[in-house]
Amino acid sequence: MAKSVYIFGDGIADGDATMRNLLGGKGANLAEMSRIGLPVPPGLTITTDICARFYANSEKLPEPVKDEVLSALRVLAERTGRIFGDGTNPLLLSVRSGARASMPGMMDTILNLGLNQSSVEVLARLSGDARFAYDSYRRFLQMYGNVVLEIEHARFEEALDRYRHEHGHGSDADMAAEDWKTIVATFLELIERETGTPFPQDPHEQLWNAIGAVFRSWMSERAITYRRLNGIPESWGTAVNVQAMVFGNMGDGSATGVVFTRNPSTGEKALFGEYLENAQGEDVVAGIRTPRHISTASRKAAGAAELSMQETMADAFAELERVAGLLERHFADMQDIEFTVERGKLWLLQTRAGKRSARAAIRIAVELEREGLIDKAGALMRVDPESLAQLLHPMLDPAAPRNVIGRGLPASPGAAAGEIVFTAADAERLRSEGRDAVLVRQETSPEDIGGMNAATGILTARGGMTSHAAVVARGMGKPCICGVDALKIDLAAETLSIGSAVLKRGDRITIDGSTGDVMAGNVETIDPEMSPEFRVLMEWADGRRRMRVRANAETRRDAEIARDLGAEGIGLARTEHMFFEPERIVAIRRMILATDEASREAALAALLPEQRRDFIDLFEIMRGRPVTIRLLDPPLHEFLPHGSREIAELAHSLGLPVASVEARVQSLSEVNPMLGFRGCRLGVAYPEITRMQARAILEAAAEVERTTGTAPAPEIMVPLVISGDEFKDIKKIVDDVAADMAATGLNVTYSVGTMIELPRAVLKADEIAETAEFFSFGTNDLTQTCFGLSRDDAGPFLEHYLRKGLIERDPFASLDVGGVGELMEIGIGRGRKVNPELKIGICGEHGGDPASIFYCEKVGLSYVSCSPYRVPIARLAAAQATISRLS
Ligand code: PEP
Ligand code: MG
Repeated sequence: MAKSVYIFGDGIADGDATMRNLLGGKGANLAEMSRIGLPVPPGLTITTDICARFYANSEKLPEPVKDEVLSALRVLAERTGRIFGDGTNPLLLSVRSGARASMPGMMDTILNLGLNQSSVEVLARLSGDARFAYDSYRRFLQMYGNVVLEIEHARFEEALDRYRHEHGHGSDADMAAEDWKTIVATFLELIERETGTPFPQDPHEQLWNAIGAVFRSWMSERAITYRRLNGIPESWGTAVNVQAMVFGNMGDGSATGVVFTRNPSTGEKALFGEYLENAQGEDVVAGIRTPRHISTASRKAAGAAELSMQETMADAFAELERVAGLLERHFADMQDIEFTVERGKLWLLQTRAGKRSARAAIRIAVELEREGLIDKAGALMRVDPESLAQLLHPMLDPAAPRNVIGRGLPASPGAAAGEIVFTAADAERLRSEGRDAVLVRQETSPEDIGGMNAATGILTARGGMTSHAAVVARGMGKPCICGVDALKIDLAAETLSIGSAVLKRGDRITIDGSTGDVMAGNVETIDPEMSPEFRVLMEWADGRRRMRVRANAETRRDAEIARDLGAEGIGLARTEHMFFEPERIVAIRRMILATDEASREAALAALLPEQRRDFIDLFEIMRGRPVTIRLLDPPLHEFLPHGSREIAELAHSLGLPVASVEARVQSLSEVNPMLGFRGCRLGVAYPEITRMQARAILEAAAEVERTTGTAPAPEIMVPLVISGDEFKDIKKIVDDVAADMAATGLNVTYSVGTMIELPRAVLKADEIAETAEFFSFGTNDLTQTCFGLSRDDAGPFLEHYLRKGLIERDPFASLDVGGVGELMEIGIGRGRKVNPELKIGICGEHGGDPASIFYCEKVGLSYVSCSPYRVPIARLAAAQATISRLS
């Protein structure tokens, strides 16, 4: 049987940082810190393997594992000089979860384990502090009662509040030893009343139950939701860490806190964190008390009056600073460190790579490279491409009028506006209705995770920068403000007040997570500026990636944004999208509704100059870079008028009788438009449409070459092709137009290629590649037709597949490698067999999804094309994909 318990502490450890899969992140790093001689309270880690065995063993710890734990406790006794369960010199323990990937606040922790009616007296005597001993005991009863016995946390809080109220105690500081003693008695009664059995006095029984509860928390609803949102497999399991207690609640020389080695919002290189004097870890993490600043500089910058740790505990602070620097260099990354100071001595309880905003991640990666701790490839791998979306989010327009009603801690950057909701369920409901919600809570708890994800922003009355809300929001890239002291929530009335402002559920509110400002109503936003470090990192990415990155864009604005964000061309201009504006849609409707060639030609003649203008814009903006223009591919239902009013308006503007328009709309309506008269089928039936578009493209190219002196690189793309002959039919129309133009002396360089977006096109890729000059995978349609799922209708039932785990990710968001991916590989193989130089790209939504981009690198695509705001994400993901492939 493999070893299931690993010990650590006091300069030695069975494990190390590389053993994260087995020991979990916390356990592996506790071992590593012990190895490098840092002050870690000794303890043991039960491996993640045991998590599955625990479930297989009817949710009980297997006996051999218990034996290993007991022998590890004997080693602990030798090291600490204290014995677990001993009557005269008891060792107290903490029991914490620790999965492979960090899941902040999602699983359970129990502190002060081992306390009972007699050991609390011993603790009081040994520490000389009865108040501390009974405070610790009541905390233990509370945590054990909640985590192991599943008594609602609020029941304990209510009892505590009632006592405080009756005795006129405003805060914990007013509570004396006798008060805590009474609370302990109340809690013991509460537990017995709720469970029907007395609280277990036997420390070993407490321990086995606590370990079981921590393993069970792996399958709690909030943990399951967090895993689903973060793609963490259930099979990983959690480890359990059992560690000798150190006490941050032993009076004024004691404290507990969390420190980041660099600022997790901005990336600035300075200690950033919070601490609470005379407190235990859960007080900081839960965000129940508002903590103080670690460093004086950050206290002053925030204008806070309460003294910093640097001012009140200079020695412990200096030691913390030293250790923080050491850990950062050792792990070559920004660290998030949990610590406790027990009567002046610093202890480290955890270190992990700190969660950070995208802005901070970039600055930290670039600076770590400059400090020589990592190389450029390492720096590129440090930034999550998806997180760049945060930077690309709009910020508040500084010039826009705003009604600031309050201020809190700027916990996660970015601006968000939406309707006020007070529950996670309401946030989820609004999102399902396509509405924006700002989730307003007293403090968030891990149960709120689904609602936080659904909300556009999060606002809490309590908690600090390291509270649950702040950490989770930063991870999600959601704007968040915490600790708005003036915020009062009346859940019964469904209102909130900040100072004199009173808002109710459904009212709009705007938050700026970068400044902490809370505003009533909606405030205008603007596009963000890129930091110098962002540009540096993007340059490094461009130097590394093999694939090109283009954008899907058809309007001036989108094309300009795409170019400014680094697009190397346009990979897809959907010409039908150029007709969405109200004035233009009439022209295209006239063309679609035409019943004979003459009226169609007339409608097309009106469209030609407009199209030419559109293409001139794109060619000018792209300055000689490739521009792929797709021939018209309108699923007809998107362009036909719906309802009698629209039909009447259209009839009026076309000068036709309503009845004849109605009849034509009727005759064009399709049962299944996605598989209907769209794509190149339109050009096959009405070559004049293709002819007009080809002419507009080629004339625009000639015009731009004449005016700018730079020849554009138009790539004409045929949609929804199913065979080589069909492709040739369309290509010939284009070539004939070009030949006509050449005859008049206008020579334009262009190429004609095709989308590959139907399984038949994949199978016939060799035949198509004989004449097609490029391929571009339209993975939206390819996914739709591979799965036989309608893109427009799949939402409601895909949801069930995702929830049941029948599919891992929405195949329209992230490429289905096993199915659609295999089709792509067949298409690439057959196409390149005929033409080894064939340029192949992707322009479905997947072209902007990092996981799909990794796959595109693997199968050798030439480029990816994505929506403009995703271009930087694609540039970075493509660089990471190249680095990973080569390493
Ligand atoms: C596709 O099908 O992937 C594609 C890019 O085309 P559209 O989304 O316009 O059908
Ligand atoms: Mg398509």
